[in-house]
Amino acid sequence: MHLKSLTLKGFKSFASSTTLNFEPGITAVVGPNGSGKSNVVDALSWVMGEQGAKNLRGSQMADVIFAGAGTRPALGRAQVSLTIDNTDGTLPIDYSEVTITRTMFRTGGSEYEINGAPARLLDVQELLSDTGMGKQMHVIVGQGQLDTILNATPEQRRALIDEAAGVLKHRRRKERALSKLASLDSKTARLQDLRDELK
Ligand code: ATP
Repeated sequence: MHLKSLTLKGFKSFASSTTLNFEPGITAVVGPNGSGKSNVVDALSWVMGEQGAKNLRGSQMADVIFAGAGTRPALGRAQVSLTIDNTDGTLPIDYSEVTITRTMFRTGGSEYEINGAPARLLDVQELLSDTGMGKQMHVIVGQGQLDTILNATPEQRRALIDEAAGVLKHRRRKERALSKLASLDSKTARLQDLRDELK
């Protein structure tokens, strides 16, 4: 599995549609300060489901939408597509090439697509969760992040190892199942009360 291409349109400084093609192996993105290198990395995190504006170096999510520059007016939406080569079947989906697209409108909300079909954030997270590219983005090591990892609590380090080992997906499923069970318990108790009242 490897990243094949990334297309940014209206994302941060990339107002026009821009596609970066990646070959297997190491890719280096070079350019002057402020030219948008980190914005490319932000786009990678964002399309894979990043939910924290701060992790994308903004104060709110809409900061990822092109805000205007020079004579070019601000745009109303940001869109990023990531194409992954899946010929080795690492991703649990029956396609040799997988394109994940995320679109966000200034009015709010994000839409996801997997190979052109509407998807939920959860679908994207589950698709990527065994690859280490999931929710917590440990595959992307930002500037200063090594310090954070070195200073992490044992619990935070455990979460990191769980994610890398693909355990987190099952932990999340367990948490969702437990919360459904808790909600069922309270509904059963409520039913019991109603039954007692009717007696
Ligand atoms: P450095 O080498 O200094 O880390 P860099 O190449 O990584 O720089 P970035 O931080 O990726 O640069 O890009 C910063 C540029 O992106 C700034 O010029 C900033 O104005 C622009 N930018 C960020 N968000 C937006 C946005 N929403 N709309 C328009 N331009 C934006």
